[in-house]
Amino acid sequence: MSGGGATGGGAGGLPVAPRDDLALVEGYHSPQVDVEVRLNTNEAPLPPPAGFVEALADEVKRIAFNRYPDRSARDLRAALAELHGVKAEQIFAANGSNEVIQCLLLAFGGPGRSAAVFEPTYLLHTHIAKITGTQVHTGRRADDLSLDLAEFDRVNSAHRPAVTFICSPNNPTGRSESREVIEAVVGRAAGLVVVDEAYGQFARWSALPLVSDDGRVVVVRTFSKTWSMAANRLGYVVAPAGVVSVLEEVALPYHLDSVKQAAGRVALRFRAEMEARIAGVVEERGRIAARLSELDVQTWPSDANFILFRPLHQGPKEVWSGLVERSVLVRDCSGWPGLEGCLRVTVGTPEENGRFLSALTEVLA
Ligand SMILES: *Cc1c(COP(=O)(O)O)cnc(C)c1O
Repeated sequence: MSGGGATGGGAGGLPVAPRDDLALVEGYHSPQVDVEVRLNTNEAPLPPPAGFVEALADEVKRIAFNRYPDRSARDLRAALAELHGVKAEQIFAANGSNEVIQCLLLAFGGPGRSAAVFEPTYLLHTHIAKITGTQVHTGRRADDLSLDLAEFDRVNSAHRPAVTFICSPNNPTGRSESREVIEAVVGRAAGLVVVDEAYGQFARWSALPLVSDDGRVVVVRTFSKTWSMAANRLGYVVAPAGVVSVLEEVALPYHLDSVKQAAGRVALRFRAEMEARIAGVVEERGRIAARLSELDVQTWPSDANFILFRPLHQGPKEVWSGLVERSVLVRDCSGWPGLEGCLRVTVGTPEENGRFLSALTEVLA
């Protein structure tokens, strides 16, 4: 019905049919079920420190709300540059790292170009690529869910992708790649290598030192997870200065509002608190992993704030519903390529983790 033409109406009585290629794109949903213990979206378990909200309120009072924000977010970028020991010209910030990824694909992907992903991995890399008209080439991870360099070589030489996504630590598997593996990818990649470090602070090393102005590495980070600021939608990339200039061209004018810019700057004053919270999450992750190893599930080691597990003798849907009945929500990953039977639990507060572990113990009994 929709044909190829833009006129003549589409299904459902639309005045004009949407792009044909949007039909290939499935929506991205994490069900928001009403439960007491929400461990399904990898957010930080605690709100930001009390001092953060007060300091932000003071900053907000000083904003000239009748004026457009600082278009190049100078102060925020300078603060992030200082945090990472890079130049402000190497930082581009946007509304969540998802918008950073969208800008990367608008600039370097698009019609006639492609991106490579290695499944199972973060679904939004593929999703945003398709929305920007970028063809996606999908490789498979090895059986232990690590990045397989032979598979990378196969995809890279067959398709010469403009962008290769490496999520490390990988969502939803929790595994981070070694420096040797990332360096091998960078040495051979046809285009940009986007290392998504949404969970980078939980890992033992970061690809940030691999970023240089004459290189091809870009590292994506977010305030959504470790900085307890998912509500704020703020992410950024550390990239060659030339890449940052191009991203600024594809972003909408004034895309980063003044409140958000202030929130990002203020958050960086609470680095010690953030690091203490990370240490707490890592400790709880160890406790959950230890208990899971005694239960009837398969698990994988995690460098992030979540753990992937597979019930060995019950279906994932049954276990997921059993947990929901006990007011605990985890992520059902069983439909993701290569993750048959798998669920993912976010590390919460000690109390939430206790609720999860006892609910799971009951459901598996
Ligand atoms: C959660 C997550 C993000 C964060 O996206 P935001 O838009 O910054 O909230 C990015 N990448 C991965 C792999 C994630 O899991």
